[in-house]
Amino acid sequence: MSIEDKKSRNVYNPQMIIRLPGCPEYDHFTEIMSEIYDTVIAHDTDEMIEMVMGPREHLACIVVDAKRGIEYNFDMHKKMKSDMRFVSVPTVVLTLEHSREDMLACIKEGISDYIVLPEEDELVRLRVNNAIRSKDSATFAEIENMLKQLPSNIYLKDSLGRYVFATHYWHHLNDAEDREWTIRGKTDIDIRKDKENARLAFEADQRIIKTGEGTNYIIEEKSDGKTEYLELIKRPVFDNNGNVSGIIGLINDVTEQQLLKMELEERSKLDRLTGLYNKATCEDMIRASLHKAKENETFALMLIDADKFKNINDTYGHTTGDKVLEQIGSVIRDTFKGMDICGRFGGDEFLVLMKNVNSRDNVVTLGEELRSALKERIKGEVYAKEVRLSIGAALFPDHGKTFLEILGSADKALYYVKDHGRDGLHIEE
Ligand code: GH3
Ligand code: MG
Repeated sequence: MSIEDKKSRNVYNPQMIIRLPGCPEYDHFTEIMSEIYDTVIAHDTDEMIEMVMGPREHLACIVVDAKRGIEYNFDMHKKMKSDMRFVSVPTVVLTLEHSREDMLACIKEGISDYIVLPEEDELVRLRVNNAIRSKDSATFAEIENMLKQLPSNIYLKDSLGRYVFATHYWHHLNDAEDREWTIRGKTDIDIRKDKENARLAFEADQRIIKTGEGTNYIIEEKSDGKTEYLELIKRPVFDNNGNVSGIIGLINDVTEQQLLKMELEERSKLDRLTGLYNKATCEDMIRASLHKAKENETFALMLIDADKFKNINDTYGHTTGDKVLEQIGSVIRDTFKGMDICGRFGGDEFLVLMKNVNSRDNVVTLGEELRSALKERIKGEVYAKEVRLSIGAALFPDHGKTFLEILGSADKALYYVKDHGRDGLHIEE
C-alpha cells in the first residue's frame, strides 16, 4: 500500500517533521508535502529533537537543510540511528545550492536523499517517497544483526542452496583467520566439515525447492571431539509468482534434550529392580537376533526361575525378596557379560540368550557356573541356604526355529526341573 493509499484510506497519517529556514523554494516544498503528509514545522533544533523523540507513532521522515544538518553534525539523524524505534525513519536533506562536498558529507552520514531545489514537484514527491519506502523496512544487515542476538542459527539460502546469510557460523568457520570471509554464496558442501550431514542438508534443500514443502529433522554432529544434536527447521520462501525462491532455516542446539530423551528411552527398556532388560525389550531383542541369524549360527536360551521364592518373601519380607532378585540379576549379568542378552522375564523368572553356544555340555557348564556364582554371592546371608535356581534350557536351531518354539522347549525343561526336586538344570532331548 502506498503512502497515498494509506492516507486516502486513513490507515494512518504519516508525519513529516520539517526544519528549514524560510525561503520560497522551501515553503513550496512544505506546501506540496502537506498534501500527502501531516507536516510539522520545527522552529529550532531543540524543538525538533523534542518532536522526534516524543511519542510520535507515525513519523515517516525528517527533512532538514543540508548546510544546517552538516553544521549540527547530523545530531538528530545520529540519535535516530542509535534508537531502535527510529531505524526506519529516513532523513532527507534539501539545498538551494548544489555542492559536491556537502552531498558527499550527507551521503557518508547515511542521509537518504540530497535534493537540490528548485526541482519538478513530481520528481520531489517521488524522491521523498522512495527514501521513505526504502527505509520502511529494515535492511538485511539490520535484520541479520538483530537475529544474531538469538541463540538459534537463522539462515537464508537462495534457490540453489547457497547461503545469503547465516546468523552464526559453524565452529570451524568461526576460527577462520580471514576476517573478510563470508558465508554468502557458499553451499553446505563447500563449507561444512561433516560431509555426510552436509550432503543430507543439500538433499533436504533440493526436496524443499522441488516440492515447496518444509521439513524438520534432527542431526547428530560430531566436531572437535564433541557430539551435538541439532534440530533443523526449514521452510521454503516463495516469490510473487509462487515459485520457491529460497529457504529460510532455523538451527537449534537440542543436545541436552536429545540426551535426556535417549536416556529415558534407554531406561524404559530396562527392568528397574535389576537393571536387566525388561520382558518386552528382551523378547524384541531375542526375536531380532534369531531373525538375522546366519546359517550355522547357534544360540542357547535359558529360562531361570528362583525356587520357592514365595517362601523367601513370606519369611524375610518383600524388601529382602527384592534384594535377592537384585542379587540374582547381578550374578546373571556378571556370568553372561558381553556375549548375551539378559532380561527379567517377570517375577522371579529370568531369560538369557547365549550366542554361539551349540552343545548341551556348554549349556550345562554355564548353568553350573551361574548357580555356584549365586551361592558365592549370597553366602553369609540369612537366606543363603534357601535361595536356589531351577534352569530350563533349549538350543537353536535344534529345539526350534522361532522364539516361541525355543521358549516353549525351555519352559518344558524348566517344569521338568521343578517336578524333579528343583535346584538343577535340564535340556530337552
Ligand atoms: P517355584 O519354585 O515353583 O517357582 O515357587 P515360587 O514360590 O518361586 O513360585 P513362583 O515362581 O510361581 O512365584 C514367584 C513369586 O515371586 C510370586 C511373588 O510373590 C514373588 N515376586 C514376584 N515379583 C516380585 C518382586 O518384584 N519382588 C518380590 N519381593 N517378590 C516378587
Ligand atoms: Mg519361582
